[in-house]
Amino acid sequence: MNDAKQIDEALLKSAFQELGSAQRVLVISHIRPDGDAVGSLIGLGLSLQENGKEVQMVLSDGLPGIFRHLPGSDQVKKKASGNFDMTLLVDCSDRSRAGDALIEIPIPDVNFDHHPTNTDFGRYNLIDETAVSTSEILGRYLPEFGYPISKQIADALLFGMITDTLGFRTHNMTAHAMKTAAKLMEAGGDLPGLYQRGLLNRSYAAARYWGAGLSNLERDGRIIWATLTLKDRSSASYPGRDDADLINFLSTIDAIDVVILFIEQEREQVKVSWRATPAYDVSQVAVNFGGGGHKAAAGASVEGDLEKVRANVINTTKMMLGIV
Ligand code: AMP
Ligand code: MN
Ligand code: MN
Repeated sequence: MNDAKQIDEALLKSAFQELGSAQRVLVISHIRPDGDAVGSLIGLGLSLQENGKEVQMVLSDGLPGIFRHLPGSDQVKKKASGNFDMTLLVDCSDRSRAGDALIEIPIPDVNFDHHPTNTDFGRYNLIDETAVSTSEILGRYLPEFGYPISKQIADALLFGMITDTLGFRTHNMTAHAMKTAAKLMEAGGDLPGLYQRGLLNRSYAAARYWGAGLSNLERDGRIIWATLTLKDRSSASYPGRDDADLINFLSTIDAIDVVILFIEQEREQVKVSWRATPAYDVSQVAVNFGGGGHKAAAGASVEGDLEKVRANVINTTKMMLGIV
């Protein structure tokens, strides 16, 4: 990857210099938040607070209950109030990922991210697509610029790293990510506890929801797909709008190159998730449907009737990836 997006050192320094003189700071992450969204949001937010700044942390969808164990998560709000000297975004590949949080902010100041599909919508775009998670970027640079990494900050950032790499086992893992994770452990990050809560624990409802998805799993050669309908969600009493990590289980199935999961949302809206082996790049397929992500893991929200969306997405994926 010669043209991989990396952080420009001069830009990074200017961004931190400006941040140094900011007092009121707004930190925002993405809708349908995952572990990295929450970990990087809280890790950055708490570090700025411990540095003496007034910070608000915002997720326009609110904080999902499964992340309530993270210290500082009680501060996360759905909406900001007041004025800010700077707005920082974490883990958002485009403006729409922030949901309603950017309505009154035409151009956010800093865009910290690791998605190759990032549209560079901030004033300072600090994008490192070789980073395994946005929390890795923060774990590396916050201490370098004099910001504290207390135990609670280390826990938040390590949680983001663990969840985005499925426990340090995705193909994008690097030695520098391991070194950053080790430093977070030295700062008090509880690796086994965070791993347990982020990747292993699941509710009874989530297991029943998986059952519904697994029962309609289909295969065509080296592609498999499954669907989670609104009905499945209510029969299982699953409280979230996500897939309860079913996609990560589907990705462990042998002799498959591409996995697609359809999660029916409200109002003719289907969330689509793609996963691929290293030979394929599903991020461009997701961009084609108005979403984004990484080569091996991407997603999009597609409008329309579930059946039609499913047929269209499967055909387009096969066509774009040259799979017959
Ligand atoms: P998911 O399939 O939701 O686990 O997401 C896989 C990857 O794709 C993550 O890096 C997400 O940030 C990204 N992603 C998911 N949905 C979208 C979307 N609607 N727009 C842009 N990126 C997305
Ligand atoms: Mn994310
Ligand atoms: Mn991420």
